[in-house]
Amino acid sequence: MATMEYDRLYIGGEWTAPHGASSIEVHSPATEAYIGQVPEGTEQDIDRAVQAARAAFDDPQGWSQWTAAQRAEVLRRFADELEGRGSETARRVTMQNGMPIALSQKWETSNPAMLLRYFSDLVVGQVDDLRPGLKGKQALVTHDPIGVVAAIVPWNVPQSITFLKLAPALAAGCTIVLKPAPETVLDAMVVAEAAMAVGLPGGVLNIVPAGGPTGAYLVSHPHVDKVSFTGSPGVGKAIGEVCGRMLRPVTLELGGKSAAIVLDDADLESSLEAFLSTTMSNNGQVCWLSTRILAPRNRYEQTVEIVTNLVAGLAVGDPLTPETQVGPLVSERHRERVEGLIRQGVAQGGRVTTGGGRPTGLDRGWYVQPTVFADLDRKDVIAQQEIFGPVLGVIPYTDEQDAINIANDSDYGLAGSVWTTDQDRGLRVARQVRTGTIGLNGYATDPVAPFGGVKMSGLGRELGPEGLGHYQVPKSIFLNRPNQS
Ligand code: NAD
Repeated sequence: MATMEYDRLYIGGEWTAPHGASSIEVHSPATEAYIGQVPEGTEQDIDRAVQAARAAFDDPQGWSQWTAAQRAEVLRRFADELEGRGSETARRVTMQNGMPIALSQKWETSNPAMLLRYFSDLVVGQVDDLRPGLKGKQALVTHDPIGVVAAIVPWNVPQSITFLKLAPALAAGCTIVLKPAPETVLDAMVVAEAAMAVGLPGGVLNIVPAGGPTGAYLVSHPHVDKVSFTGSPGVGKAIGEVCGRMLRPVTLELGGKSAAIVLDDADLESSLEAFLSTTMSNNGQVCWLSTRILAPRNRYEQTVEIVTNLVAGLAVGDPLTPETQVGPLVSERHRERVEGLIRQGVAQGGRVTTGGGRPTGLDRGWYVQPTVFADLDRKDVIAQQEIFGPVLGVIPYTDEQDAINIANDSDYGLAGSVWTTDQDRGLRVARQVRTGTIGLNGYATDPVAPFGGVKMSGLGRELGPEGLGHYQVPKSIFLNRPNQS
């Protein structure tokens, strides 16, 4: 397979020579083979990228001053261009992070375009809000773009997560410095190619692949106006501290350990596909997965059996094969972490009902067997820690209130799901779970509804008008004229 080599960075609307000499090499998690490289951005590259974004934002005739409709026209062409490159993007994502190709073709090809179109429409539809004042005079409330945005994204669903940030920011009139994760840099180059093809004005989007320290430099750069981060809670807290000290607005989308509450009237057998995508998508490497399965005591063994059979039957293998349901983990280091947690789960007395080791016949690549733990206590490590791998734990509960209490007994609060044949009952339970999002008999986010967490799962929201609001500053202009005029 041809390798993909880049020796330039997309800064200021052009491919420019990097400041440093080092590269980020990408290896396939499935074969361990070298697949490509990009220049590794340095602090000097960040300086250039922020300067370009700053100049583009401050330009009195530039992007931030265009009408929403003018920006939308470019962004819709950007969406078309990305869609046209969708199968290449999906292939690159899968080659870099092991996402099963059937999934990357579903998520990573359509989400970026859908988000660009959604937020373009949303901003075009926004009007300045003329409010009759309580003191007899009118106020006009406008939605100004917040400024230069630093967008820092992880490797697990790189394209969709990138456009959760880029789409609202660009539509609002912001300019951006994007720092992709080192594991997934080759798909970010497709974004640069598409941006150039549609003539996105220079400096509106700049892409600097780099590791954590360079990301930290970007976060505290004096000319950045807002930070939007998706990643681990530890890094998120560090970024939040810096932004707090600088009084810099920040959105943090962090981890999760969500609960699937299986009520005693649930019909799991009729919802296996939805249950699988809610609990195990992308090899367990999605922040919103319901990996804690809460089962009623009177149906506990039955639930364990259903989940075990489902997980044991998954097709594990080469992520580029369309039939594959579970591919490798992203890296050797990440597999070590996941295997360490499985060992801790066993040491604490968890019963492994399927998996627990490495799949046979897959000697290269970072595979682990899809694994189910039963007989877990709600405080066990498998029930509390985000594993970010194909590992589920089934925890018994006594009654509905106990299930809600267990669901809420978590440092996290990003997502969740309730499984029931009684919609009203499901809704009643869903309302009592302390979480940012939750699904009934499945889980699927949608651009119109805000996505984000409570507690350690983060701050702020993406998607929906609420997500757009994080890239805008409301400005009140007191018109000093009577309400009747
Ligand atoms: P990570 O926090 O290690 O890295 C995320 C990004 O931050 C990468 O681009 C990385 O290079 C960069 N980074 C690392 N240290 C930094 C620092 N000090 N300052 C600035 N940037 C820094 O996370 P990861 O391992 O890539 O991703 C997995 C984590 O992301 C999981 O915890 C998962 O739950 C979380 N995640 C959350 C969501 C969500 O929307 N809530 C979505 C996907 C992933």
